[in-house]
Amino acid sequence: MDQNYWRKCIVCKKEINFSTKYYKCSVGGCDKKRAPAQFCSVDCWGVHSSTLNHKSAWSEEYHSPSKAEWESAPKVRIITPKTTTSETSSSLSNSDIPNDVLVVVSKLKAYIKASSDMNTSSDVNDALSDIIRRECDRAVESAKADGRRTVMARDF
Ligand SMILES: [Zn+2]
Ligand SMILES: [Zn+2]
Repeated sequence: MDQNYWRKCIVCKKEINFSTKYYKCSVGGCDKKRAPAQFCSVDCWGVHSSTLNHKSAWSEEYHSPSKAEWESAPKVRIITPKTTTSETSSSLSNSDIPNDVLVVVSKLKAYIKASSDMNTSSDVNDALSDIIRRECDRAVESAKADGRRTVMARDF
């Protein structure tokens, strides 16, 4: 991306060039890391100040970085959360099949605790989930063999 201006004035959207004068609001909360507030002129800051009803604020004069400075500086990125697909160690070849924990962990732990007073290590969930998946696959085959599209208790 080749950008020939530094940032845009947040009021009039005019481009603020590199190595040029620009203005910031003296109110600390206005200039956020993820939403920086800069103005091309005192007038634009004035618009901002009156919209936000700033009581005692002033504009501060700054100097924008040169293009070289700007390019070498770490950019502020808006991080968009990726939709994480569960790509953990899967024995399944089809990635569309969810490989999540199929066990209600809290209930499992409660059961083991109540029946034996033992604790449950967290990797038990994975192991049990694998067993459940395996048994489900088997039950599906059984239902298929029966010509059904519903897996029933008797398939297990
Ligand atoms: Zn402006
Ligand atoms: Zn402000």
